[in-house]
Amino acid sequence: MTSLLPGLAAARAATPPRPLLILGPCSAESAEQVLETARAARALGADVLRAGVWKPRSRPGAFEGAGEAALEWLAAAKADTGLPLAVEVATPAHAEAALRAGVDVPWLGARTVVDPFRVQELADALRGTGVPVLVKNPVAPDVELWSGAVERLRRAGVGQVGAVHRGFSTYTPGGAGTVQYRNPPLWQVAIEFRRRHPDVPLIGDPSHMGGRRDLIGPLSQRMLDLAYDGLMIETHPDPDRALSDARQQLTPAALGEVLAALVMREAGSAAATYAPRADELRRRIDAADRELVEALAARMRIVTEIGAHKKAHGVTIHQPERWAEIFASRTGWAEGLGLRPEFVQELYERIHLESIRTQTDAPGASSD
Ligand code: PEP
Ligand code: MN
Repeated sequence: MTSLLPGLAAARAATPPRPLLILGPCSAESAEQVLETARAARALGADVLRAGVWKPRSRPGAFEGAGEAALEWLAAAKADTGLPLAVEVATPAHAEAALRAGVDVPWLGARTVVDPFRVQELADALRGTGVPVLVKNPVAPDVELWSGAVERLRRAGVGQVGAVHRGFSTYTPGGAGTVQYRNPPLWQVAIEFRRRHPDVPLIGDPSHMGGRRDLIGPLSQRMLDLAYDGLMIETHPDPDRALSDARQQLTPAALGEVLAALVMREAGSAAATYAPRADELRRRIDAADRELVEALAARMRIVTEIGAHKKAHGVTIHQPERWAEIFASRTGWAEGLGLRPEFVQELYERIHLESIRTQTDAPGASSD
């Protein structure tokens, strides 16, 4: 028997549709903390209670989870509140222990999903159990690894497979304190994942992405605006004293405020005023895009000509001063037109690469 993610069908059927809510502490720390949080989560409308039992810590010496004792606390909280349980499993032994204890939704963590061998071992351990499984994005922004994990689980015949977008690791030269997000979202990776797997429910994890309490609300809203199916958010009765991820956990009361402030937008609107105006604006966007692509094609034709010209005169393709001047002038133009200079800078980095490729391939040209 294969099962669906608990609460998802009801969340989708609500008017307006609401996000599936997976709430709970980063780590299960004691029977009391788990029960108190579970009751608060249920009062907040949670569909599923989350908690870490075995914690994958990047560095040794940090709290590594209470292990199997925590499974008993969770089973008691489930009996008390009726909430289904979601727990991270990183080895076949974890998966077996979790299922024995009545865990309803095992999930694969971001550090596990980078390793296809471990994912396959877990898929084999979960084979045929029919339980729904969540797959966090891998710490590396590699959509193939994320997709591959989903496919391995599906082939193993588990229940519904859902994906969790929790952001990606990047190197931060000044240290973690200098960046806005603990794990930058790289939204385009999640968007590409969803393009490939439109039938896989996508759940956002603003807690691990933001890493800070004040970012949970804005990130959650952003996820809802991108039509994510649900949210996984960490909550703890006394976050400052949490044994893991203290900075990103909210008290249930603070989480209640965040959830109450979220604005649900629908994928479409039946209002008579919506479709005609949306259609008109989309036609204008289509026309603007057509011009953009034609302008790019025209630019690349000129680039091909200059490539051949440089070759004829024995001049290198890439000329750093010329590109420094292009970046400076184009970002300046952008600013004058109300565009973010960083956006246009990134765009020109792509255009630059394509220009070099075009010149390298130009008839009679050779690369520097
Ligand atoms: C977690 O959800 O507690 C966790 C460890 O997450 P991630 O695998 O996303 O780091
Ligand atoms: Mn955590």
